[in-house]
Amino acid sequence: MRIGVPKEIKNHEYRVGLTPESIAECVRHGHEVMVQSGAGAGIGASDADYVTAGGAIADTAEEVFAGAEMIVKVKEPQADERKLLREGQILFTYLHLAPDPQQAKDLMASGAICIAYETVTAPGGGLPLLKPMSQVAGRLSVQAGATALETPRGGRGMLLGGVPGVTPAHVTVIGGGVVGFNAAQMAVGLGARTTILDRNPDVLERLSHHFESRAGTRFASAMNLEDEIERADLVIGAVLVPGAAAPKLVQKRHLATMKPGAVLVDVAIDQGGCFETSQATTHDDPTYTVEGIVHYCVANMPGAVARTSTYALNNVTLPHVLAISDAGWRAALRDNPHLRAGLNVADGKLTHAAVAASVEGPT
Ligand code: NAD
Repeated sequence: MRIGVPKEIKNHEYRVGLTPESIAECVRHGHEVMVQSGAGAGIGASDADYVTAGGAIADTAEEVFAGAEMIVKVKEPQADERKLLREGQILFTYLHLAPDPQQAKDLMASGAICIAYETVTAPGGGLPLLKPMSQVAGRLSVQAGATALETPRGGRGMLLGGVPGVTPAHVTVIGGGVVGFNAAQMAVGLGARTTILDRNPDVLERLSHHFESRAGTRFASAMNLEDEIERADLVIGAVLVPGAAAPKLVQKRHLATMKPGAVLVDVAIDQGGCFETSQATTHDDPTYTVEGIVHYCVANMPGAVARTSTYALNNVTLPHVLAISDAGWRAALRDNPHLRAGLNVADGKLTHAAVAASVEGPT
């Protein structure tokens, strides 16, 4: 199959659909890969690296789209890219169609076969093509919070791990799923006193087994939350209620009870945020302060570590890229119901029930 990898054009997107290593695998399977010049610049992969891996370089996105039977990307196609898609062409990328009816309309009109990373499932449950980005965001949240705690950034001037003779910072993680677990791992690793809150007793039990005495676990009742927030130097919001906006667990009135210069990192901002005072920010200007509390609310955190994120994403997407290009999309989806769950658009129609219900409303 002829596979095309265009350069990402969404603002501040530095990741790329396939790494040189992934392209070498595709070539080993007998496929041809065309990469747009400069597509790998954000992860430190040059055109020469892609050529060494067996890829060919095209100057423009138009050439990549025109020559490829399957396009592999990271972000949803932007309006200019959607015009380049054609009937029967396969698009494999994050789509997030539910809140984006115009994109859904354009993809249906294109006649392309659109398989969305975020709805591919796994035999054990969960969304395996979203998981690595939650791992990255969880780990990055502690780095971001540690930086925001520095005095020049408006923070209370605390080192997460303290030093001998000086107590470490107190980190509270709300939500103990993928993001929360990874955040807690980093906070514990840096020597912070760490507590994780969740509403699911099974999650609390798993975390307790894993961390033993290195981190505390608490049920996320309103009273426990208030108690934790008062003593926290860094609070990380990592909750998810599938299919719903994030609940506002920290309200504006709580800020007055917190230590001045404490930091809130709202990882759940892509679902509306779990702090009442959260507003989405960008990597250019990631923090702002409300009532003396520093807020970090970047909606696409993994973009800041494009290299790690691209490699983590490729670890889970490559097997599917190979399955689709080896067998063709119909056979690959027939053989694997979990990949089939990724199909969002085919033959000019929305094919995923939940996505269709969100885009078109109840029927
Ligand atoms: P997950 O499903 O693995 O974990 C969510 C956890 O929240 C679950 O353990 C659940 O029990 C818990 N929870 C739900 N309601 C709660 C409540 N009221 N109080 C306490 N705990 C509660 O989800 P995840 O993969 O860890 O993702 C967490 C959030 O991070 C999601 O909103 C996701 O979209 C977001 N995210 C953001 C970025 C970014 O760049 N900002 C990147 C990746 C993920």
